[in-house]
Parts: sequence; C-alpha cells; structure tokens
Amino acid sequence: MPPFTKTFELAATKIKIPAVGLGTWKSEPGQVRDAVRVAIESGYRHIDCAWAYKNEAEVGQGIRDSGIDRKELFVTSKLWNTFHSPDKVAAGLQETLDNLGLDHLDLYLLHWPVAFAKQPSKGKPEIDWALTKDVSPTWAAMEKLVEQGKTKHIGVSNFTIGRCEKLLKQAKIKPAVNQVELNLHCSQPELVQWSHDHGILLEAYSPLGSTGAPQLSDSVVKDIAAAHGASPAQVLISWQVKRGIVVLPKSVTPQRIKENFESIDLSADEVSRLNKRASEFGTQRTVDPSKAWGVPDLWKDEPGAKL
Ligand code: NDP
Repeated sequence: MPPFTKTFELAATKIKIPAVGLGTWKSEPGQVRDAVRVAIESGYRHIDCAWAYKNEAEVGQGIRDSGIDRKELFVTSKLWNTFHSPDKVAAGLQETLDNLGLDHLDLYLLHWPVAFAKQPSKGKPEIDWALTKDVSPTWAAMEKLVEQGKTKHIGVSNFTIGRCEKLLKQAKIKPAVNQVELNLHCSQPELVQWSHDHGILLEAYSPLGSTGAPQLSDSVVKDIAAAHGASPAQVLISWQVKRGIVVLPKSVTPQRIKENFESIDLSADEVSRLNKRASEFGTQRTVDPSKAWGVPDLWKDEPGAKL
C-alpha cells in the first residue's frame, strides 16, 4: 500500500502540512524516542507534540536520532492552559522549544479555550474566567510569536464553531488549524463544513478512538478493511484524509506506526458508508475534561452559555 505522502496547504502561507502526523500523547519517555525515530524512518514528516504530554525532550531526541534535516519536518506543539495568559505565552513556547531542542515550531496551538490561574497536582484547577471567556489577549501574544519567527503558524484546539467565529472577529492572524476530536464516534460534520468554508484546516485527534483503539472493532470498518486486504486503522485514517482532514494517529509500536502510514484508496461508496455509520453515533467525545476542570459549558457556544 502506498505511503501517505499527501499534504494540505495552509491558507495564509501556502506552506504544506503532511496529511498524517504521529501523535505523542500518552507516549511514555523510554518509548516515544524510538517511536519518533521509527516514524521518521518510515516516512512520517509531521509530529504532533504538547508541553502537557511531558515527553517533548524525548520527542526531540527521537528527531535527532533520525538524522532528518529540520527543514523536512513539520513540528506542532501546544500552549498548555497554565501558560494561557498574555504574559506567559512567550515562556510557554520557549520551554517547548528548549524541551524539543528546536529554534522554531511549524505550528503552535492554543491547547484548550480554557485558562488555568493555578493547576494543583490534585483536584480541580483554578479557572481564569476572564481569559477563558475571551482568549483574544492570549491570541495576540501568540501572534507576536509568528512575527518573531518562533513559529510559522498558530492555531487553536478544542474550539467549537462559536468560539472560532468569536476569535475570527478579534484576530489579526487567522488560526491556521483547529485540532479537535474527530473519529467514527465523533465526526462533527457541521464543524467540518464550517471550517472548510472559512479556510481553517481541521486536524483529527484520537482518530482510532484513543487509548486501546476501540473503533478498530467496528463492523463496517472491518468489512471495508477486509475488502482492501487492509487493516481497520488504515480504513479510519484514510477516511479522514478523504474528508480533507489532517490525521494524527498515536502509536509507540513500530509495526503499527508503519501500518498507520499506509494509505488505501476508498471508493465514494465506501466513504458514504463510513459517513453514514458515523452519523449513527452523533458526537460521543472520548476526550472531555469539562467535569474534571469544572467548565460545564466547554463545548457550548450558543448565546446564554456560561462562556
Ligand atoms: P489514537 O486514536 O491515535 O489511538 C491511540 C491508541 O491506539 C494507542 O493505544 C495505540 O497503541 C493504539 N493503536 C495505534 N495504532 C494502532 C493500530 N494500527 N492497531 C491497533 N492499535 C493501534 O489516540 P490519541 O488519543 O492518542 O490521539 C492521537 C493524538 O492526537 C495524540 O497522541 C495527540 O498527539 C493528539 N491529541 C490531541 C488532543 C488535544 O486536546 N489537542 C487530545 C487528544 C489527542 P500503542 O501506542 O500501544 O501502539
């Protein structure tokens, strides 16, 4: 099966972003260094990181182990909620760059539309409600990072349509991407259409259903996989790329890392079968910290919502 060499163009810069990147959440130090090296040796040119994953230093070692030229790679990381404040943004990025051993990122995302004034090691964080309701001061500080050449693009993550609309009214630089949960149980067709219409590229996190990849056992996915002599993971990843979405499968298992980078050419009929199957599930989020953080309106953007 051919490798995923497909790229999408980022609207503002016309720079190309590889359609499939390696996810690194819950990739333990001791595993992730090798995983990153294996991924790059297998053809991946896009790595998705975050300060909050506490493994950026090992990801950086994996990049160096591979011997790849930095210019060949597209590296993303994310500003954690404790840095979501205009006076902390520069320090947040600098920690990430130091961890990774890089002098710039290709893409820096606001990880959540939620600002933490404090995050204790146990229990609920203390929310900064002003910055959570209006992220524009933090966004303006992220815009400065682009001017300074510290990152080529900035974007958001876990933003609803309403939150994107609000940010678009305030932003000098439009978010290049919005990274959200997108998979068979959370296919978000309205967000996909809206983002496409507004030139914001979507990135799919938890494309296999997150830890343990539960969506690989879906009967429709398995059926289509069998017809191609492919794996269920290859079906789910190829489906999202066909929807015009960047996909970020995570694995620390060499054979799976390689498998996830092989594409299959789904027919229009197979894509509609998968879309129909996804519509049966609606929006069932696997990643939802709204209760744990005490932010009940995290996913709401209609007038009257608390945020
Ligand atoms: P995924 O949907 O990518 O699933 C990862 C799980 O699937 C792991 O248990 C992995 O196991 C397993 N797996 C991977 N490939 C295969 C395969 N071919 N066959 C069988 N099992 C497989 O989950 P994530 O939640 O990690 O999402 C992907 C990435 O998205 C994250 O790593 C992160 O980079 C990003 N993300 C971003 C978020 C955000 O808020 N912006 C939130 C969540 C994720 P193993 O590793 O043991 O091989």
